[in-house]
Amino acid sequence: MSHQETQDVIETNDVIVIGAGASGLAAATALHAAGRDVVVLEARNRVGGRLLSTPLAAPGRALDLGATWFWDGEERVRTLAVRNNIATFDQHLAGDTKLQEATGVRRLTGNLIDAPSHRFAAGAQSLAAALAAGLPSGSLRLDTHVTAIHPSSRGCLDVLTPAGTRRTGHVVLAVPPALALERIDFSDVLPADLTRLARATPVWMGAVVKVVAHYPTAFWRQDGLAGAAFSRTGPLQEIHDMSGPGGAPAALFGFAHARTVGPGFERALTAQLVRLFGPAAGSPVALHVQDWSTEQWTAPSTVQHLTDHSLFGHRLYQRPALDGRLHWASTETATTHAGHIEGALAAGERAARTVLAASADADDTAPGITAPSR
Ligand SMILES: Cc1cc2nc3c(=O)[nH]c(=O)nc-3n(C[C@H](O)[C@H](O)[C@H](O)COP(=O)(O)OP(=O)(O)OC[C@H]3O[C@@H](n4cnc5c(N)ncnc54)[C@H](O)[C@@H]3O)c2cc1C
Repeated sequence: MSHQETQDVIETNDVIVIGAGASGLAAATALHAAGRDVVVLEARNRVGGRLLSTPLAAPGRALDLGATWFWDGEERVRTLAVRNNIATFDQHLAGDTKLQEATGVRRLTGNLIDAPSHRFAAGAQSLAAALAAGLPSGSLRLDTHVTAIHPSSRGCLDVLTPAGTRRTGHVVLAVPPALALERIDFSDVLPADLTRLARATPVWMGAVVKVVAHYPTAFWRQDGLAGAAFSRTGPLQEIHDMSGPGGAPAALFGFAHARTVGPGFERALTAQLVRLFGPAAGSPVALHVQDWSTEQWTAPSTVQHLTDHSLFGHRLYQRPALDGRLHWASTETATTHAGHIEGALAAGERAARTVLAASADADDTAPGITAPSR
């Protein structure tokens, strides 16, 4: 007996979205708005994926351990923030830059690192929370990771989770492609060129460690510093001011390579911050180290070796696979702003459009979706 007949189907939906990051939530929002019965299956116990904000005691304030900025021209992000009353503010830019080399630290006039950009006062994850809040109750299933996707005998797709099998007409795969290929069993039904492409596509920022140092005040600003630094010695390679509106909460953040994390890492971080910004940098209120390369629902085991960013937005991601039923989303598949939140939203919207186009073309060719037969 083939796998598809061995499992009882616990529920059927017009569309199943896999992943409640920005991309999956954008797809689900558009599909729900178009009247489709959609469920979102999310492996983690939270929404947002690479949008992750740790809340602070001050109401409405948070520190971003994932994405931080958006830029002019990223209209989907701006519109989403405006529609949901999510307060935004401009990235702090004023002040001088520090450069750290093996020979010592130099001060360079002006901010040579940060481009004008914008931030979310309550953290970037508030975008995901707002999208999730707009979905009908019960349509978001947290703690539900998808283990397999199989074509069913009835021309639908069966989506397997530890809680059981769901049957659907369309799947939106809003998971980084390389991660999807590693964690989800497609029983070899995906075309070989698509499998190769997905396995080789990098996960944007999937191999980085983000370090956030939270301070009582933005003391570097009093010294005329922008909080911006770049370093040829590490462990942090670039550093930015990540303070909230008006400088509160006060924070610096930097990126390090995952391979530099190990014993003594936090001591090395504080020592570097002191060398760059002075003794006050040695006493953070908290030091957050978020290693994305060890996040099982972000990074595949190959994450350090995936470097060909020209695969982002590849043409094979723009059309559905598996007889028009498997639609790619995630920022890596976007043809515009790939890697950014904007790209994630764009890819989710594109996936929703291809689902709607396919289901409009074949409204009556998906038996078992609205009236499932077991
Ligand atoms: C440190 C860092 C800094 C960044 N900085 C910026 C920035 O400043 N500006 C910017 O625009 N972008 C930035 N980005 C990128 C931005 O975060 C991403 O582009 C965006 O969040 C990706 O959204 P997504 O929905 O495509 O993927 P993800 O957010 O990765 O969402 C995928 C979701 O799928 C879930 N999932 C995975 N596997 C399964 C499974 N088998 N079953 C069910 N669910 C599954 C995951 O848990 C996750 O919730 C940054 C990223 C990082 C990590």
